Amino acid sequence: MDTQMLIGGSFEAGTEAEEDVLDPKTGESILLLPEASAGQIDRAVGSARSAFSTWSQTTPAERSGYLLKIADRIEAEADAFAALEAFNCGKPINAVKEDEIPAIVDCFRFFAGAVRCMPGSAAGEYMTGFTSMIRRDPVGVVASIAPWNYPLMMMAWKLCPSVAAGNTVVFKPSEQTPLTALKMAKLLSEELPEGVVNVIVGRGASVGSALINHPGVDMLSLTGDVATGKKVLEAAARSVKRTHLELGGKAPVIVFDDADIDGVVEGLKAFGFYNAGQDCTAACRIYAGDKVYEKLVADLTGSVATIRYAEDDDSVNEIGPLISLRQRDRVASFVERAAEQSHMEITTGGSPRDGRGFFFEPTVIAGALQSDEIVRREVFGPVVSITRFSDTDDAVNWANDSEYGLASSIWTKDVSKAMATAARLQYGCTWINTHFMLVSEMPHGGLKQSGYGKDLSLYALEDYSTVRHVMIAH
Ligand code: NAD
Repeated sequence: MDTQMLIGGSFEAGTEAEEDVLDPKTGESILLLPEASAGQIDRAVGSARSAFSTWSQTTPAERSGYLLKIADRIEAEADAFAALEAFNCGKPINAVKEDEIPAIVDCFRFFAGAVRCMPGSAAGEYMTGFTSMIRRDPVGVVASIAPWNYPLMMMAWKLCPSVAAGNTVVFKPSEQTPLTALKMAKLLSEELPEGVVNVIVGRGASVGSALINHPGVDMLSLTGDVATGKKVLEAAARSVKRTHLELGGKAPVIVFDDADIDGVVEGLKAFGFYNAGQDCTAACRIYAGDKVYEKLVADLTGSVATIRYAEDDDSVNEIGPLISLRQRDRVASFVERAAEQSHMEITTGGSPRDGRGFFFEPTVIAGALQSDEIVRREVFGPVVSITRFSDTDDAVNWANDSEYGLASSIWTKDVSKAMATAARLQYGCTWINTHFMLVSEMPHGGLKQSGYGKDLSLYALEDYSTVRHVMIAH
């Protein structure tokens, strides 16, 4: 197992406090990982700064070549990456192998192509006697900080557009899930010039905070909690740094009376519970039309009760445990508070699973009202709530009545109704008759307190580069 940080061209262990990295399936320690010191953070930023002067001068074709080689290497080591990610996060191995790794490889390949055809306004004589042109240049050194729910995928989403655009990076994975980032560091050190990507580990309050406040960093990129996003903004405000924020979510799912309920149930079982609901786009806040409400509650309850997890044969598991005991306790406390309200009913699940590991039963809560905490706050666990509506305006207003604005979905057979409703939703993404589907060509990112950074697509390349105007007098 790779356990050392990548600083410039060399590998070294952190010298500060140790973090106990746990196996969420058993709760047992995998290893104690010491975090980076202030001096090591300084050197990581310094090495990214020195690499910037040459890396930023490479051609898009050259950077594309590096990304394509990295994609091939990840693909060649797909099984090892998948096994390590599954181990550190408790994810079912098949989900990592079949869903995450191919998407990660595709992300590298997409940005390898995209950076070679950056769009922009046409050059021309917008003032007689002068020619204007647009440039897109790198921002500089990017400090990139990732969460624990999709560690390697978040690393790919952050590194690919940054590095493709000609930036250099200091990357910090979550202290809970650093293992695939450290394995990736080894691979990157073999494929990229020294200092282009540096990987350091440690807690948010110490290493993360030092990194976002470092004067040698030009841009801050975070995927994480809204509270952490606010800290990044405070740090950025002091030196007017560019930020890229991908924060939480509480995705509404509007199920109209004419929806194909079997399809909805199948979709919600998959997209409400994937990754044990630890997903900022999880289909967790369901609004069901009056006529289908009872059937949806009954059928979804029956279907969710069949979700397989915590089986010894991991190949049959559909979801894993939560990442930590703390996260499981947090999920349990949301469900307990909901259960205390007489208008709500827990129709399946509702408790932590007995035995080892941080498992929580897949849970459906019926009868929730718009004002209920379970409808309003991000749970980040295998829990969905169902709220009844009889008026489309109510459904749309309730869906929009949230601090978050990341993802949403609409389920109906009526295309006109779907399009009219999609136009009214204030979310970075609206899926129709599906949920959760991502492609490298389309942006992923939010509105409101979900942040404004776009991952994937040409929009991410725009976020990680700066637009410049160059004008020549004839
Ligand atoms: P978190 O904010 O606690 O941690 C995210 C990262 O920020 C970690 O690496 C952590 O060490 C670091 N961090 C924490 N405090 C910091 C500080 N003061 N300064 C600098 N860095 C700091 O979030 P988490 O618990 O790891 O992840 C779950 C959250 O992430 C959820 O709210 C979820 O919705 C969100 N998320 C959003 C997206 C998205 O695309 N919008 C994707 C995944 C997760």
